[in-house]
Amino acid sequence: MHRYHPDLAERSVPRYTSYPTAAAFKPLPDAHADALAAVAVDTPISLYLHIPYCHEICWYCGCNTGALGRPERMDSYLAALEGEIARVGGAVRAPVGSVHFGGGSPNAMQPAAFLALSKTLRRHFMIADDAEWAVEIDPRHFSLGTAESYAAAGVTRLSIGAQTFSPQVQARIGRLQPWRQIAQAMSDARDAGIARFNLDLMYGLPDQTLDDVAATISAALLLAPDRVAMFGYAHMPQLLPRQRRIDESLLPDAEARFWQSALAHDLLLEAGFEAIGFDHFARPEDSLARAAREGTLRRNFQGFTDDRATTLIGLGASAISQFDGLFLQNEKHVGSYRVGAANGLLMGTRGLVRTPEDRMRGALIERLLCTGRVDVAEIAAEHGQSSHALIADLDQLGELTERGLATTRGSTVTVTPIGRPYARLIAAVFDTALQARQGRFSKAV
Ligand code: SF4
Repeated sequence: MHRYHPDLAERSVPRYTSYPTAAAFKPLPDAHADALAAVAVDTPISLYLHIPYCHEICWYCGCNTGALGRPERMDSYLAALEGEIARVGGAVRAPVGSVHFGGGSPNAMQPAAFLALSKTLRRHFMIADDAEWAVEIDPRHFSLGTAESYAAAGVTRLSIGAQTFSPQVQARIGRLQPWRQIAQAMSDARDAGIARFNLDLMYGLPDQTLDDVAATISAALLLAPDRVAMFGYAHMPQLLPRQRRIDESLLPDAEARFWQSALAHDLLLEAGFEAIGFDHFARPEDSLARAAREGTLRRNFQGFTDDRATTLIGLGASAISQFDGLFLQNEKHVGSYRVGAANGLLMGTRGLVRTPEDRMRGALIERLLCTGRVDVAEIAAEHGQSSHALIADLDQLGELTERGLATTRGSTVTVTPIGRPYARLIAAVFDTALQARQGRFSKAV
């Protein structure tokens, strides 16, 4: 059951991987050392490592990455990153329950370099034996040798960028990769002992049709992933010049995007996946689905997650850390990061100190997006805040409740089944800073 509302689907809202969002970050050059010193010693934390290089650059990509070119660029980046790992690891005494490599393409690194990096991490951080090690990979550059190095490093999950299996859509986004290549990458990983797989797909791509989406989902199911993410393509060429290569005239309109997303949702549920939040799907036995059922699903800078750590430490250029009451982003420019980190500096440069109200609203938005329901008075009480402002915000839900996308009962808001695609719009009602930042975010659907 899906209902298209053209005026709502057209609106731009944040993805809310944090609240306030990274758009509100300001220079914070001196916060890093104190933030690390304040990390509790006995509570598990998570690590995120950013590798800002790819073999080739896809036209649609919104990540902080560049073409690798000469291999020495990676070598000097990794030397700087190892320096940062040593400094940050030396300042933090907490156990690590999860390690995530993103980018860019972490497999732009040579397998031996990846293995060496994993050893550096283990030397400087107390990484639990049962920690999840997840790596985002570009399957076009993945071999059995890479898989074996990853397995030796302790990698437990691969996140594979597939986007679409339609050759004509692949040609429109500058990313040609046959299904067989992805199947081979997964088979190599399974042979090496890596057992868990996420597949990232997209809708709203140029020249993409409902038939393409259906065929892509069918092809994806043959690969037997544990999780599927179905992201809407966000076309923002004013912010991402590489997207200017995409022919705008071929982009599906808001209504076509809506039905593509709806079709993917229905096909994945039909195939036995459970819907997680508004754009993820997982097999019932996967830990993400379990977390959703048990009410422990979280949302952080990596999206929906079963990771319960409240401290996330980002390492590498542009990586964002989440500390108690503080978001801190490392220097984004890779060259400047390399120079600074190689010279012994801590690289957190921009961020935001969260006010008690930010934390309350952030918790509210996270719970709403993760569970589809939130009692705003309860959230206020949990944060020792007055609930007056949140209760007043409920009045703004009028147009959404009238259309049956959300319901309110007392101080509780519930996203209805037909409201799920509009969940970010419902969350945006509680985002006090949104108006000032309109126009910098992706479409709601
Ligand atoms: S491989 Fe991934 S990170 Fe690299 S350019 Fe393509 S989409 Fe972006």
